[in-house]
Amino acid sequence: MKLYNTKSRTIEDFVPINDKVVTMYACGPTVYGYTHIGHMRKYIGDDVLRRTLSLLGYEVKHVMNVTDVGHLTGDRDETGEDKMEKGAKKESKTVWDIAQFYTDYFNNTMSKVNVLSPTIQAKATDHIAEMITLNEQLAAKGFAYETDQALYFDTSKDSRYGELSGQKLSDKEVAVRDDVIIDPQKKHPADFSLWFKRVGKFADHAMYWPSPWGDGFPGWHIECSAMAMHYLGETIDIHTGGIDHIPVHHENEIAQSECATGHDFVHYWVHYDFLLVNGEKMAKSKQNFYTVDDIVAHNIDPIATRLMFMQTNYRKPLNFTWESLDAADQQLKKLQKFAAHHEAIGTISDTYKNSFAEGLSDDLNTAKALAIVWELLGDNSVSEADKWATLLYFDQVLGLDLNGIEKFSISVEAQKLLEMRDTARAEKDFTQSDELRRQLEGLGYEVLDTATGTKLQ
Ligand code: AMP
Ligand code: ZN
Repeated sequence: MKLYNTKSRTIEDFVPINDKVVTMYACGPTVYGYTHIGHMRKYIGDDVLRRTLSLLGYEVKHVMNVTDVGHLTGDRDETGEDKMEKGAKKESKTVWDIAQFYTDYFNNTMSKVNVLSPTIQAKATDHIAEMITLNEQLAAKGFAYETDQALYFDTSKDSRYGELSGQKLSDKEVAVRDDVIIDPQKKHPADFSLWFKRVGKFADHAMYWPSPWGDGFPGWHIECSAMAMHYLGETIDIHTGGIDHIPVHHENEIAQSECATGHDFVHYWVHYDFLLVNGEKMAKSKQNFYTVDDIVAHNIDPIATRLMFMQTNYRKPLNFTWESLDAADQQLKKLQKFAAHHEAIGTISDTYKNSFAEGLSDDLNTAKALAIVWELLGDNSVSEADKWATLLYFDQVLGLDLNGIEKFSISVEAQKLLEMRDTARAEKDFTQSDELRRQLEGLGYEVLDTATGTKLQ
């Protein structure tokens, strides 16, 4: 398989550390707000990647974190109020309630779009001890310094800092100079907190734990390093995230992890581009987002989002419109209809199987894979049973739950209406026959007039 690696900025051959097992860490949600379609692009992306690796014969160990500690407003810098506390105040609940509520909302959304549960879903608040241990290692090796407010990672000690995004430390100084230096003891604007002390603006912070640096809570970045290494080892195969994570979060994860262990943290960095609305990133803060409930309210099957995303390369921005989701829903309906009308499972077509896998192995060319699906369905040289077998094979990656579609059958009520309609037509009572057609359509059937009478689909 070939995969674009943000680290090398090239498409590389994917070679896992362990022949048949792939370790994959996916940055998970910050649970202080509703999961929206923008998030879905990232997690459906992870799901397609994971399913592709499985299809190609790998066993995938997929770990995803849930950021329930609470983080800072603004662009993940250290200037703002804690996101969870802000959410809690707004809704007059405890921060723990807020985290649970939005974690459930996230998981519920994922199941509605048929995203497989990660092998391990790890909550940050359950791994504070691992984060403290990692911070201690960094401090012991001289990569951290303490101020009155926090324990910081010292970026000046890491000669490779900035390699992922290609930014030099001196560029960062210019980029973040205006808004970040709020701790006068912090040495460099790019230095980031490994541990926040429960002092100053955080004196009333609701979530806190004891640590060698006093009561407080972990920085955001340390959570992913600690949990990824705890579950998957010090060097992992794949790490995923949205492109917004490249310059800060993932840069910082690399710095902490590699300075602590002395070797590579991640071999392949996979980043998904944004879902946009009118050219702007869909985001909680911009109030331009839609959730799975909005999709259902539009009478669209949430699973259609999978088709909408797969039509576009994951490394390209995608502008969201209801029209495009609706078009994906129409395509989904066609596939569901095919599934409803096919029971006998034949043999998987090798030709189509190979082209499908070839498309996906080419840096997840999902648009090509989808084109192959339509080509198969239109190919008269393949039997219906073989088409169905091949489509079920494809669905291991597409994840459209086609096997779960109820098989087509004509209900007793519909059969009665059908017979009444045939009688009406024989008697040339077209008003009555049109009315019966409407009733049958109301029951969800497609009504076809054939030489031998009414046919339902
Ligand atoms: P957050 O909960 O904000 O940390 O976001 C969780 C993940 O979703 C991150 O990997 C983000 O990069 C990703 N994400 C958030 N908004 C979008 C969007 N509009 N399009 C694509 N990915 C997004
Ligand atoms: Zn992360």
